[in-house]
Amino acid sequence: MNNKVSVVIPAYNEEETLGVLFGRLFPVLDSLGRPYEVIFVNDGSRDASLAMLLAEKARRAGLGQPQGASQPQEGDNSFKILDLGGNFGQHMAIMAGFQHATGDAVVTLDADLQNPPEEIPRIVKLIDEGHDVVGTIRVDRRDSLFRKVASRAVNRITNRITGLALHDYGCMLRGYRRDIIDIINEAGEAATFIPALAQKFASNPTEIAVAHSERGGGTSKYGLLRLIRLNFDLMTGFSLAPLQAVTMAGLLISALSFLFAAFMLVRRLLVGPEAEGVFTLLALLFLLTGVTILCVGIEGEYVGRIYQEVRKRPRYVVRKVYE
Ligand code: UDP
Ligand code: MG
Repeated sequence: MNNKVSVVIPAYNEEETLGVLFGRLFPVLDSLGRPYEVIFVNDGSRDASLAMLLAEKARRAGLGQPQGASQPQEGDNSFKILDLGGNFGQHMAIMAGFQHATGDAVVTLDADLQNPPEEIPRIVKLIDEGHDVVGTIRVDRRDSLFRKVASRAVNRITNRITGLALHDYGCMLRGYRRDIIDIINEAGEAATFIPALAQKFASNPTEIAVAHSERGGGTSKYGLLRLIRLNFDLMTGFSLAPLQAVTMAGLLISALSFLFAAFMLVRRLLVGPEAEGVFTLLALLFLLTGVTILCVGIEGEYVGRIYQEVRKRPRYVVRKVYE
């Protein structure tokens, strides 16, 4: 037990918000009255993000030195920067941060100020009170209507097919106790979705409502394609239900087709042959072809991930660690 709080923040091209984030984050952490470490993970940014992180680290190191003796815990606080060797995605960046986090409580946060750093003390307090995972629900969420509607559907569907019960999978302002972080670090999955993974291992999770803001600057790093891919990570990583649904649908369609064929046979014997309704037949054919391709695609998502797992390629590459 070291009582330390680790804050892990992934950043991908966030030069527009990092300055404000520093200004809001550190006062909150200083007010906690306990040792803390901040771990920024630079996820292959191509803008000034890394330079800004390094400058802030140097500035804070300069601040700590002179009155180091008068401030008992100053020496325990640290500012780490992990510079990944490319863009590995938000969840892998957080994974990299977890590997380097040493605190008893670990809080994750977005770098774009959509999650207010001022909520960190509440999360830490709940971990102190014995919760191993503290989830969050964004109230009055400030995102596009499309994102909000899509998230609501994802939350509902994911809970159904995974058996988990989270109200907001997408909010990454969350807290995890040391033991959960250790388990997550052990899980060497090639693709994952951290809030769901933590929820799976949690024995006393809780959820709180947190404020949500518009991006402090810059634009979302998730385009439509990336969002779809991320949600496939969530779905395939935590459930086999879609595969089973495909099998069930196949069974159902086969059974119905059999009945239909039997009916046609009887009809032919009693009424005679028929040749009407060719286009109805075509429509049915197209529909079934579409469904078949979709099902092949779903299976492909699983197969692709199995391929990633067996290849055992590193999940992310840390180019340099600035301790
Ligand atoms: N992020 C990242 N790597 C990526 C995409 C995003 O590290 O490939 C970070 C990003 O810098 C931000 C957080 O993940 O700190 C959330 O991203 P964003 O705000 O773009 O997502 P949204 O809020 O639109 O879901
Ligand atoms: Mg955001």
